[in-house]
Amino acid sequence: MSKRYLYNTISLSKLIGLPPLGMDRKSLAEDYKGYFGRFLGRDESCVSKHYLYFALVLTVRDRLMERWKNTKRAYDESRCPWVYYFSMEYLLGRSLSNATLNLELEDELSAALQEYGLNLEGLAELEHDAGLGNGGLGRLAACFLDSCATLQLPVMGYGLRYEYGMFRQEFDNGYQVEEPDRWLRDGNPWELERPEYTQRVKYGGHTEYMDDGCGGWRMCWVDTHDVLAVPYDIPIPGYRNDTVNTLRLWKAEATDVFDLGEFNAGRYPESVAAKNAAENITMVLYPNDAMELGKETRLRQQYFLASASLQDILRDWVRRRGEDFSQFAEKNCFQLNDTHPTCMVPELMRLLMDGHGLGWDDAWEITSRTVAYTNHTLLPEALEKWPVSMFGSLLPRLLEIIYEINARFLTEVARCWPGDTALQARMSIIEEGENPQVRMAHLAIVASFSVNGVAALHTHLLKHGLFYDFYQLWPHKFNNKTNGVTPRRWLAKCNPDLAGLITETIGEEWITDLSQLRRLSLYAENPEFCARWHSIKHENKKRLLALQVQQGIQASAHFLFDVQVKRIHEYKRQLLNILHIIHLYDRIKRGDMENWVPRYMLISGKAAPGYWMAKLIIKLINNVANVVNNDPKTDGALKIFFMPNYGVSIMEIICPGADLSEQISTAGKEASGTGNMKFMMNGAITIGTLDGANIEIREEVGDKNFFLFGLTAEEVEAARQHYNPNGVIAGDEELQRVMHLLECGHFNQFEPGIFNPILNSLRSPQDPWMTVADFRSYIDSQRRVAEAYRDQERWTRMSILNTAASGKFSADRTIEEYNADIWKLEKIPAYTL
Ligand SMILES: *Cc1c(COP(=O)(O)O)cnc(C)c1O
Repeated sequence: MSKRYLYNTISLSKLIGLPPLGMDRKSLAEDYKGYFGRFLGRDESCVSKHYLYFALVLTVRDRLMERWKNTKRAYDESRCPWVYYFSMEYLLGRSLSNATLNLELEDELSAALQEYGLNLEGLAELEHDAGLGNGGLGRLAACFLDSCATLQLPVMGYGLRYEYGMFRQEFDNGYQVEEPDRWLRDGNPWELERPEYTQRVKYGGHTEYMDDGCGGWRMCWVDTHDVLAVPYDIPIPGYRNDTVNTLRLWKAEATDVFDLGEFNAGRYPESVAAKNAAENITMVLYPNDAMELGKETRLRQQYFLASASLQDILRDWVRRRGEDFSQFAEKNCFQLNDTHPTCMVPELMRLLMDGHGLGWDDAWEITSRTVAYTNHTLLPEALEKWPVSMFGSLLPRLLEIIYEINARFLTEVARCWPGDTALQARMSIIEEGENPQVRMAHLAIVASFSVNGVAALHTHLLKHGLFYDFYQLWPHKFNNKTNGVTPRRWLAKCNPDLAGLITETIGEEWITDLSQLRRLSLYAENPEFCARWHSIKHENKKRLLALQVQQGIQASAHFLFDVQVKRIHEYKRQLLNILHIIHLYDRIKRGDMENWVPRYMLISGKAAPGYWMAKLIIKLINNVANVVNNDPKTDGALKIFFMPNYGVSIMEIICPGADLSEQISTAGKEASGTGNMKFMMNGAITIGTLDGANIEIREEVGDKNFFLFGLTAEEVEAARQHYNPNGVIAGDEELQRVMHLLECGHFNQFEPGIFNPILNSLRSPQDPWMTVADFRSYIDSQRRVAEAYRDQERWTRMSILNTAASGKFSADRTIEEYNADIWKLEKIPAYTL
């Protein structure tokens, strides 16, 4: 036998049993010093703060790494079932402060850094946000991963590692300008590249039957253009439980670094063209929220996620169980975050049939018992459709499989409702017509054993509206899972003083059992507790105000902080907010200021670069702010700030400092909302319509502690028939005055006519968002807000009661429900060190 070997497994195991790292300040300080001086090779001449941050991450990451491996071993050895969460977006924000909170390292790490004269919070702020998502959907995925790790559930996230995340927003003359988000430019110490698990993803080509060598035939997809998918793993720590789960993100790379033929022929740009084309796939996040464009690169991205992830999962299955798929459905579940990853349905069929030799029925049995779909929107412009022609040339084998799925599905429909061809056309996965389309939501529903909405009203509307036909066919598939947010990031971490007061008052169990917050309601009448609550909110408002010092907007923490931060979208009705602001300004101008409550109006959010109406709304808000803020009459009474570049880290400062949370979408349009939950947890009071999770927020906190206004979803639909905004305006003098200020160009003196599209939409009987219909009721509700705020003790009581009632909106509760009804996973404690 040869003496030459790379390794043998016996001695390799000696490499693995490392002693656990110390969690005390001394060990941390030693490690930090080692990373700074040896690994990074820096010394006292280092001028970049970045290395101070980097050494800190490496120190913390080592502590995660050992727990990460122990978690994997515990999962592996238990042979437990797994859930794979498929999402095109993960809006993670920063990781360092989350990791130090979850590892309970804050105190010791602060002390360790103090030895070197360094400040933990200051260094943590050097981290770039991981902005791999647009808004609520991507942030939900991040909150869910946090809860899964905290609940010790074997759940792995799959997504894409975009080179450029959500664009950075700047303003130029009040207009949004988009700048690329180069979040990886200083390297990303949180990711672990895993080239050994690289997968190959195919595009284009065509299909052929080929002899399988055993007397049968197998379908082959040939002449393809292949791209490599290289995984990068990000650790997801649970809260103080030694569990560290995994988020695996795929990066696209070319199969050959460059074309040697072209290179040798002296055609250098051509020689790297293929590399560039391949790497384009994961170059940039599409910055559209609840809006589909139908761009081919987007479809490439979606298939890239589906194919690489499934190949990875099947590889691991075969490693552990061989080619026996009889238990696959019992042991695996795929949760789809909206329809974006739905290519995984035909791709799983393809891999099982063409790759592993299963027949159609066995492959379909596995697919339809493992896929679960979460719907996130009822907006027609957000429902994904792909032209059959594009789909077929990019993914020919998948299109064949979709046609077969559809043929079998339509047979079932015909069996249930014989002769109803209109129904078949309505339900078909293929929308026929001049330009036939693949309806991804129909594909997702047909293939899934579970279809869920994200708030009670939303699920109701899915069942009785958008997916009514499917609900008649398969009522058992439909279920509700009201969204939630993680109380670690969105209370414990972002509002440390309030978290401290809560823990001091009711103990610390609330951090993992948020229903405990109910016990705070006992203290809502306790003057000492109320005073401390009020003063913490006041300090948080000062911290929030500090974000705009350079703007020179004159406001104080005594103002009512009235906050609307979210993507700019017509259905979210930033316009209604602006109408109220103009109304307040009008009142100031005409001296109607009895019992005036000064307000600080904070608005933030990005518009999709191609959504011109949303971008015009941004310009309007900035123009109104400019006029109002520069009018001396508004001093001490009304100030407006449009904070640029809204994101997770900014929200972590905003929600602790908000008094009033604006959740004012047209009823029936906001699936759930999660911003509303973050504000409630941090003691803001909601002014809102009966939409999405607002309804459940109001149920939990009670009508007296919620400012309700507006038409209900049902009333909105009924009112559409005879909606007459011009009549409404004519009948409301205050609204008339607001419209007059807008229409006479008061906010665009040197830019005549620019806001006409907005004014026309407000006055249009076809306005889908019915903004004008809710104006009066909104203004009246805002009057009640001011009245409540004037009684500061009453307001503080309402604030406490909101936090106390927010327990339902923990993502831990949401995930427990997913697990009880859909996933049915066992909790697997990690091996301790
Ligand atoms: C929570 C959150 C959202 C979602 O906000 P909604 O008000 O529910 O639309 C969007 N973006 C960021 C950065 C968030 O933290």
